[in-house]
Amino acid sequence: MKIEQFPDDVKDYILPAPSGELSYRCLKCERVHPPLKLYYACPDCGGLLLIEDMKEARLREKPGAFWRRLFDFRRLANIQSLRGVFAFYEFLAPLIPLEDVIYLGEGHTPLIQAPAKLAEAVGIRLFVKHDGQNPSASFKDRGMAAALSYLKYVIRSRKLTNVLAVCASTGDTSAAAALYASALGPEVKSAVLLPKGKVTPAQLSQPLGAGALVFELPGVFDDCMKVVEHLSEHYDVALLNSKNPWRVLGQESYAYELAQQLDYELGDVAVFVPVGNAGNITAVMSGLLKLKRCDVIDRLPKVIAVQSSHADPVYRYYSRPESERVYQPVTVRPSVAQAAMIGDPVSFPRVAKMAAEYDATAGERRFFVVEVEEQAIMDNMLQANRSGLTICTQGGEGLAGLREALRLGLVETGERAVVDSTAHALKFTGFQSDYFADALRDGFEIKAKPQLVNRPIDISPAGAPLPEAGRAQSAADRAAYVAAAAKDVALALGLNKR
Ligand SMILES: *Cc1c(COP(=O)(O)O)cnc(C)c1O
Ligand SMILES: [Zn+2]
Repeated sequence: MKIEQFPDDVKDYILPAPSGELSYRCLKCERVHPPLKLYYACPDCGGLLLIEDMKEARLREKPGAFWRRLFDFRRLANIQSLRGVFAFYEFLAPLIPLEDVIYLGEGHTPLIQAPAKLAEAVGIRLFVKHDGQNPSASFKDRGMAAALSYLKYVIRSRKLTNVLAVCASTGDTSAAAALYASALGPEVKSAVLLPKGKVTPAQLSQPLGAGALVFELPGVFDDCMKVVEHLSEHYDVALLNSKNPWRVLGQESYAYELAQQLDYELGDVAVFVPVGNAGNITAVMSGLLKLKRCDVIDRLPKVIAVQSSHADPVYRYYSRPESERVYQPVTVRPSVAQAAMIGDPVSFPRVAKMAAEYDATAGERRFFVVEVEEQAIMDNMLQANRSGLTICTQGGEGLAGLREALRLGLVETGERAVVDSTAHALKFTGFQSDYFADALRDGFEIKAKPQLVNRPIDISPAGAPLPEAGRAQSAADRAAYVAAAAKDVALALGLNKR
């Protein structure tokens, strides 16, 4: 729709301009730092940073209904920079001029109500938000759209050249970082550090295809992350992990979209988020809190973080009584939710802060953490896949978390659940084939359930002339082969002859 066709009360607001006063805020010493410098830790105390809009009060001068109406209408505008996560510009990063926004098709991922057979099996009305339907096939694109748009703005305004963007990754961060960096000019190069053998072949192919420099290192993600943190402390690099607070801002868009897709009524909703480095759970809570503060929603949904028992530092922390909580990293064991296989989440201090604020704002406990077994992750993923929903292993983790939350009474059958399928299932097909081959017993401790196993059936009719690639068959051979192959397929299917 063209701007002049919008109703008079929203027309002037469709195209936003920078209006916020964004600064870095240190979680530790609480000092603020100017927004146009590339900081990844507090320059005074080394603390973790978040971006704060010092003028957020201006958003509250408008009623919540104004923002709901504006965001709903803005979806109709065919303006590239507003098609993706920046559709929620005023709440996201109202500092970056629209001309610097990079849009590659991220965001506005579908929210799909699960078919009845799955909802009945789980025992609750449930939705899946398919974040695998982002350009690099994971939610990480939301954060990268913000972080790289910001970087583009900084490069332009400070006339920087030779910027090297780096990240450590369990596979999806590097795919997203390399993709968004490749859309920028020659002043940006990207380099990604991966734990060798701990990302899937599809994930490895992504940054290679996008032209990034790809380094494979020994160990697991946590080891790569330490190397990248060292690089960002001692060398001139732009860090693209979620330690970069601009990424968190971009990922808040998940919360804004979810609110919009459920008509801004979230009071009876429980949102399930698989947790690895804990950037996403931070962003989801941060976005929901902003919506609440600005009256865009009137009740906060429950937010339920899910971890595998093979990588569960956040769960362990919250499973203890409040007075006894001490954060301790864990050594991870193999997990099919490999993208979340992190033992020392960089964003842990953010989670602690956000969760406290979340519960305080809600006036009751609304943030929970549950733990699931590897077996449940695979079984739930496969069951969803057999019900019209191709979710990834991390989505399976979320669905397993939902079942666990129901079991624990954290969620009740009358409520609605939203499971974040954080990546596309096709990135993780190796785990499916290993499950089908019952090859996940070692390390993962997963046994294949025969009713979930599915394997191709070889048809090669004995005695019939078989087709060969590149060689033409005679008409008679072809007819003989077709009849023999059809007979074998019919036999395997138990078909009756007409
Ligand atoms: C990164 C990632 C996660 C974990 O998100 P964090 O922000 O690191 O907690 C979960 N699922 C997928 C598919 C991911 O790529
Ligand atoms: Zn500080």
